[in-house]
Amino acid sequence: MVDFDMMDAERVMQFLFALRSKGVTDKRVLEAMEFIDRGLFVKGHFASRAYDDLPLPIACGQTISQPGVVGLMTQALKVRPRDKVLEVGTGSGYQAAILSQLARRVYTVDRHRRLVKEARRVFDRLDLTNITTIVGDGSFGLPDQAPFDRIVVTAAAEDPPGPLLAQLRTGGIMVVPVGQSDAVQRLIKVTKSEAGLEYEELAPVRFVPLVEGLGQD
Ligand code: SAH
Repeated sequence: MVDFDMMDAERVMQFLFALRSKGVTDKRVLEAMEFIDRGLFVKGHFASRAYDDLPLPIACGQTISQPGVVGLMTQALKVRPRDKVLEVGTGSGYQAAILSQLARRVYTVDRHRRLVKEARRVFDRLDLTNITTIVGDGSFGLPDQAPFDRIVVTAAAEDPPGPLLAQLRTGGIMVVPVGQSDAVQRLIKVTKSEAGLEYEELAPVRFVPLVEGLGQD
């Protein structure tokens, strides 16, 4: 039987090699991705593919993002050790777990209660005590916790949601996929300065859509 709790040395090497070949070169990001075992966030039938550079299905008809894309998004965020980070779209919890290694605190929101509950279980198992999980519509952000130093949205909106831009601290960075849900989307990096918002296009991506309101389960 294969033990998915521990990545063996060869699998780790291949995983990191694939990340580097996708342009993920930041040492802290690579270390965090080496430490957080993606196998813990993929359940059932697809667990054997956890170390491939592929998006995979998770509960509630959602997907865990491709490791290469998680790496590029995390790298683009330039998270600093004292940062307070908001993630919209907990999904499996994989992205939040990586952010927890780089930031002071991570708030992660999902509209599906079941996904939040399952992600929480993995965070507890890994003793990731600096992640706060919330069930809710993350497109409105978390006004009580704002402003955030960094915001990452892991579901595609037609435009970066206004409330999230408002809750980004001056000097902050937000990474968000934008575009129609059934088309190729663009990953955008938004930097907020005294002068206003600056947009940079990073890569073509494909994410599930950002949906209004709470999920059924
Ligand atoms: N970051 C995740 C992948 C996210 S998939 C991971 O690492 O596994 C996108 C997630 O966004 C889904 O779980 C979906 O339920 C969630 N989502 C979509 N619209 C949302 C909204 N308005 N508020 C919060 N979560 C939302």
